[in-house]
Amino acid sequence: MDTQKITQKSVAELQMLMEQGELTSEALVFAYLEEIKKRDGDIHAFLEVYDDALAQAKDTDTRRAKGEKGALLGIPVALKDNLLMKGKIASSASKILEHYVATYDAEVVKRLKDAGAVLIGRTNMDEFAFGSSTENSAFGPTKNPHDTSRVPGGSSGGSAAAVAADFVPLALGSDTGGSIRQPAALCGVVGLKPTYGAVSRRGVMAMGSSLDQIGPFARSVEEAEVLFEVIAGYDEKDSTSLPEETRSNIRGEKGVPEKMRIGVPEDFVYTEGVDEDVQERFQETLEALKAQGNEIVPVALPSAKYGLAAYYIIMPAEVSTNLARFDGIRYGLSEDASDSVSVYTKTRGKGFGKETRRRVMLGTYVLSAGYYDAYYNKATKVRESIRNDFQKAFEDVDVIVTPTSPTPAFKTGEKTKDPLQMYMADIFTVPVNIAGVPAISVPMGKVDRDGAALPIGFHVIAPDMREDILFALGKDVEKIYREE
Ligand code: GLN
Repeated sequence: MDTQKITQKSVAELQMLMEQGELTSEALVFAYLEEIKKRDGDIHAFLEVYDDALAQAKDTDTRRAKGEKGALLGIPVALKDNLLMKGKIASSASKILEHYVATYDAEVVKRLKDAGAVLIGRTNMDEFAFGSSTENSAFGPTKNPHDTSRVPGGSSGGSAAAVAADFVPLALGSDTGGSIRQPAALCGVVGLKPTYGAVSRRGVMAMGSSLDQIGPFARSVEEAEVLFEVIAGYDEKDSTSLPEETRSNIRGEKGVPEKMRIGVPEDFVYTEGVDEDVQERFQETLEALKAQGNEIVPVALPSAKYGLAAYYIIMPAEVSTNLARFDGIRYGLSEDASDSVSVYTKTRGKGFGKETRRRVMLGTYVLSAGYYDAYYNKATKVRESIRNDFQKAFEDVDVIVTPTSPTPAFKTGEKTKDPLQMYMADIFTVPVNIAGVPAISVPMGKVDRDGAALPIGFHVIAPDMREDILFALGKDVEKIYREE
């Protein structure tokens, strides 16, 4: 079997081949490692490929021979570098954690191991997940596999690029304001941000704790669904984890409407800053969905336009609090100094990159006495009204849709000088984290930029715990572009 073919097969096909004894996990992982060796020098999706990947694969082959089953038995999965795996480095692509070795498994890693997955390595990201291009990594940027002069999106750009480049069939990322969906869109793969609380956050390095969710990347909706089902579930050690009895919707027990009422927030989508050809393709996709028998209706999300402004207060506030733990004493890098304050300042000054420092300063400022009411309190009120907008809209529609990102992948270096422009990349994704609802990005074909064909994404948002609806509509969107 030639390696190119194996690395492009779906998880279901791979499972079947392994079940039939025609393929071993060892051979499969070997084929992926060869691809990584050949092409990751240009792309830089991985910060580390684990040296025990083949040994893990061999072990799953032995377990299969003994009759063991598992949703992901023998299937390789890559982890974003902010997820803990016991005994492995987890650095969040930061100098401050360059040599930090995790002391326990994140709940998602535990679930992956239980399902038989082979954990193949850790992927590049923006430092602490701060960014939309993976250029804020302390270890160099990741490139978009569709055009290596462009960014893969971010912050989970390494995971998105790894799946897009056929280095691995599945990967995990984290999404605080769009970090799974936006890179998925820019790399032409599927990315899901689950309902807040659907997947345990224990063992992901916290960014904005009230916004963070871990979720899957895959080449198809079906495969993203398989990975989601493995990682979702109640965790008593995460206080925001949703109890099992509330999860009937995730399991699809409520049933998915055959024909959907699809809401479009028109003012939000058809506006300046969203590329014309992205709007056109979005419009064509809506027409195709209508032709499938779905109904397209306008919805109002009047507060969504304040989403980014509220996010850039709430998120840095939580960031400054979460990053206080990197003090040069308990974790990671430690700079020598004669008094403790100098240890803090020297360590943080050396260990944190520019964007990280910017966010810690912003967050500390908005939480400071005298400004707390003017900024943080006000932002939490905006948050409430965004949540209400979504709830009200979902009384009338099954899903709300937008493009995932206002533009296709931009050039490396194009937006690094202007953080505000970079923040705009998340205009459609951020309100979803603020509302806590789930959303998926599914490829909607490609657009042309300077002769390069660049993927763009269709973004579907559902009410709390209706991932089942996202998968159903996501598959319909896939059909449109498969037939094209
Ligand atoms: N790009 C957004 C930011 O820079 C979102 C990041 C994320 O979801 N982790 O904050």
